[in-house]
Amino acid sequence: MPLTPPQRARYARQLALPEVGESGQIRLAEARVLIVGAGGLGSPAAYYLAAAGVGTLGLVDDDVVEASNLQRQILHGTADIGRPKIESAAERLQALNPELRVRLHRERFDAARAPQLLSGYDFVIDATDNFAAKFQIADACLEAGKPYSHAGIARFLGQTMTVLPGKSACYRCLFETPPPPPAVPEAPQGPLGALPGVIGAIQATEAIKYVLGMGRLLLDRILVYDAMALQVRIVTVHRRKGCVCTIKRVNSKQ
Ligand SMILES: [Zn+2]
Repeated sequence: MPLTPPQRARYARQLALPEVGESGQIRLAEARVLIVGAGGLGSPAAYYLAAAGVGTLGLVDDDVVEASNLQRQILHGTADIGRPKIESAAERLQALNPELRVRLHRERFDAARAPQLLSGYDFVIDATDNFAAKFQIADACLEAGKPYSHAGIARFLGQTMTVLPGKSACYRCLFETPPPPPAVPEAPQGPLGALPGVIGAIQATEAIKYVLGMGRLLLDRILVYDAMALQVRIVTVHRRKGCVCTIKRVNSKQ
């Protein structure tokens, strides 16, 4: 379907990019992106994808908004404290772009449910805050052949990489197994407020590039952002011999 006049007005700046144009904008409208985690990373990622005109966003989260979230989780406001995150997120995203379709999954990402969940999406954004979830998402996306963006943040450091299962290095090429949990639970330190904004915006950019088939994705490379030193390093990641991603047959679409 051609774009409507209001759509032309809304996306005028993107339409002016020859790399996007009308056909790209239509592809964005047809795209479905799943965002796991509606917190620090998920907020900017979802916000920018909604703004850019990605047609369908799925949000997975079972948490409620707490006061301590508001320093970085910019989809939620003071009045949302106590509400499910996916509900306040959906409201905010639809206020930004009423044409957006938001699918709410009020649950934790779960390996057993993953195949069904992932099947409805073209690209996945790992915006979770713990190793267990990151490994689950990595494994489920590998299994389903689903492209995804990994990211992690801690204190003043952020990292992100994009994975095309079967085609590029995966999260387990980097870290074979989850680190053991600390013997004594540690009090969270950070992250600094604006840090996930930088990394989540990169994840949104990768999703848009993937949907539009343009540019160079962050494949076989991990970007490490040190906010304190203001340094960005991009480190090559090799596919690790014997990694599950090298021995498994993957039904990757791309
Ligand atoms: Zn691997």
